[in-house]
Amino acid sequence: MADPLQLDGESSNSLLWRSAGHAAEWLTSGLNLPVELRLTQNRVSRLSVRFKSNRICVRMREEFLHATPAFWRTLKKFLADRTRLAWSALCREMNAFPLPAPPTLPRKPFLPLQPKGDFHDLTPILKEINDSWSWTTPSPCITWGPHRRKVRATQTIHFAAYHAEFHLIRIHPILDDPRIPNGFLSFLVFHERLHAELGREQIGCRFFHHSPRFRMRESEFPNAAHWRDFSRSLIPLLLAPRVETRSSLPPHIPPP
Ligand SMILES: [Zn+2]
Repeated sequence: MADPLQLDGESSNSLLWRSAGHAAEWLTSGLNLPVELRLTQNRVSRLSVRFKSNRICVRMREEFLHATPAFWRTLKKFLADRTRLAWSALCREMNAFPLPAPPTLPRKPFLPLQPKGDFHDLTPILKEINDSWSWTTPSPCITWGPHRRKVRATQTIHFAAYHAEFHLIRIHPILDDPRIPNGFLSFLVFHERLHAELGREQIGCRFFHHSPRFRMRESEFPNAAHWRDFSRSLIPLLLAPRVETRSSLPPHIPPP
């Protein structure tokens, strides 16, 4: 096939490719394996490559179809060389091509807020965290999440989440239990408060919610390692059937 990159020149901003298939065909030419190209709106990963035994799978944000000839040449070189050096060159090309923020999915607001549970009140917990540490961002709101009739045994439980679109921390209602220590809830709220403070961090080509900087700040919380372990030990108990779950929890959880 004719090389569209040669035809369009170095500084062209016009669309080089008629379709993803057209671009994949060009990437495949000269390689031993066919290239499968998927365009995405992925919010975290801008571009990923998987080398399989019978093909090379490339997933990339759809905007890259408009990227410069230099980007496409660098991508092709990486697919051929598979070296760290070629990947670094590709990262530089990606960073030079600004991507618009991906569309956010419309989500239902969590209203009304219910920070006061049957056993634990989240408002004083958040207040203590706001008062005890220095923050550069305003305090988010906080609420218990909605009760669901059943937690499926196969799903993982997200004990807490920070929703940037609502500047809201939500804690899983399964933790509104007298046997869950206040310290654990404080740790969860602190973790989500850090998400509100730090956002996501870009390192190289990827975005991290739990970057090394995040983990370092998280470790400043008293007994952070203990509460991380505690969180892992809770998951199997909370995923067990509801009645069994509650009776399986130790009546007194020793302090760290
Ligand atoms: Zn997190």
